[in-house]
Amino acid sequence: MERDIQRLIELIESSKNIVAFTGAGVSTESGIPDFRSSRGIFNMDGKGFPPEGILSKSFFEKYPDKFYEFYKERLVYRDAKPNQCHIALAELEEEGRLKTVITQNIDNLHTAAGTKNVIELHGNAFQNYCVKCNKKFDVDYIYSSLSVPTCDYCGEIVRPDVVLYEEMLDEDKIYKAKWSIREADMVIVIGTSLVVYPAANLIRYYEGDKLVIINMTETSLDDYAELVIREKAGMIMAEASYGLKLSSI
Ligand code: NAD
Repeated sequence: MERDIQRLIELIESSKNIVAFTGAGVSTESGIPDFRSSRGIFNMDGKGFPPEGILSKSFFEKYPDKFYEFYKERLVYRDAKPNQCHIALAELEEEGRLKTVITQNIDNLHTAAGTKNVIELHGNAFQNYCVKCNKKFDVDYIYSSLSVPTCDYCGEIVRPDVVLYEEMLDEDKIYKAKWSIREADMVIVIGTSLVVYPAANLIRYYEGDKLVIINMTETSLDDYAELVIREKAGMIMAEASYGLKLSSI
């Protein structure tokens, strides 16, 4: 592992335009379950409904009460704090090496860690809006509603600004993500099973030879990577960050 961290440090030190592509695995060390691990959301009890089904647009429209019950209990963690991985990425941005974080997460933790240029492909659970008049609401508004939150202006249903199954991703975000990956001199993929499309396809726009994958389990892109580290992302990124600081003294 020492050697992998050393290699990661060398790759980062030789790069000026790093893009990090992250998934639910970057936030498990903040106490937020991912989707596909054994303790992940897909293995949780959806009270008679499969979790993928609950998180779909048609389910939301048909059973908003059941959607919100599952969503508030299982998907949103208002008190979660950024971990060492989020913080290390924010520091790399501050130093000017990392240009963009593209995340599939909806937990706001990259922004909370201080990263400024974050593309949230699947939206942000801390942002909510009225489906009729578009009035914006924070996450506490969702929790203060007993069942289904409704707009205090027009009375319509309020929904999270997240991409549900059966919905399209924002084209503008996809465009920006593609360009940042294409222009990157290094891409670090962290904590994602790379099975959610079209997000996972974006990595294929990378044309360089410094693809790093930090993920506890195997991914479909491991064979294309210069470096694959199957360890906890928080620990790896903290050690890399420490090593980078030492070598800059
Ligand atoms: P996923 O559950 O499919 O994959 C997570 C991957 O991270 C797994 O391969 C797992 O082995 C790995 N992993 C878990 N903990 C890790 C750690 N500490 N260090 C390194 N690797 C670790 O998640 P995904 O690929 O992001 O796709 C699922 C979808 O889930 C995304 O679209 C996302 O919107 C949504 N999601 C988001 C959150 C969140 O916002 N935190 C949480 C759950 C699901």
